[in-house]
Amino acid sequence: MSAFVTRFAPSPTGSLHLGHGFSALVCFDAARATGGRFLLRIEDIDLVRCKPEYEAAIVEDLAWLGLKWEEPVRRQSEHFDDYEKALETLRAQHLVYRCFKTRREIADEIARAPHEPPQVSEGPAYVGEMLSDMEERTLLAEGASFAWRLSMERARDYLGAKFDDLSFTEETADETRAIKATPEIFGDPVIARKDNGTSYHLASVYDDALQGVTHVIRGEDLAPAAHLHRLLQALLDLAAPIYRHHRLITDEHGKRFAKRDKAATLKTMREAGATPADLRARLGLP
Ligand code: GLU
Repeated sequence: MSAFVTRFAPSPTGSLHLGHGFSALVCFDAARATGGRFLLRIEDIDLVRCKPEYEAAIVEDLAWLGLKWEEPVRRQSEHFDDYEKALETLRAQHLVYRCFKTRREIADEIARAPHEPPQVSEGPAYVGEMLSDMEERTLLAEGASFAWRLSMERARDYLGAKFDDLSFTEETADETRAIKATPEIFGDPVIARKDNGTSYHLASVYDDALQGVTHVIRGEDLAPAAHLHRLLQALLDLAAPIYRHHRLITDEHGKRFAKRDKAATLKTMREAGATPADLRARLGLP
């Protein structure tokens, strides 16, 4: 068996559509082509939006597609302790700070700013302010809720020259490139959300390293996240996987599928009589 390990990591917040099917098949085929391992990971840290019935439907869809994965499947909602430990590592190095601001306050501040901040996956980049011990104690005593933000400035100080040298490897069918990581595009990103004490970034980076993932294969909509993920790997002393960000599947109008597009869900297609071979043909996969 080769050392190649990849994973498909859906969030069970709805039905899988053609775009997810493509991603899962590309991952699976890549593992099979190298005699490597294929993992399924359920990214269900959002306890409000994720539902067990969606997870069951994902398993059914993937099995129908002909995918086989290793058991047990890692379900992130069962590992909040792990992500808390990773957060503690960052906290011990004073790399994160509490942010008590509400979404509304942040949106207002951004609207008042002289320049529009860059957009990242979770919205406009934002740099919060570190409060004094006194201010924090008062808010904590009032029971105010807070998120943990990563301070880009402190991360830069902590890593020194290494910060500017960070890069990640992006592989395509024709080339392998080293891409300079520019995590500062995220401002001071939320690393642990108010509601669940972690974030997609922290949980995903932590799990990829824990599971020995050598190749992260996912849609190019997540390519910007690799810049932040590379920084988290450096701060947490985790191995950096190779990335393959693949093209996104769109409908006939060039629009990406959303979980609410019923017609494009794998279940609807299956019920309409499509076979996995039909799907592969439609997606241009062998
Ligand atoms: N859970 C993420 C999603 O469903 C994928 C994360 C990843 O592949 O890194 O969009």
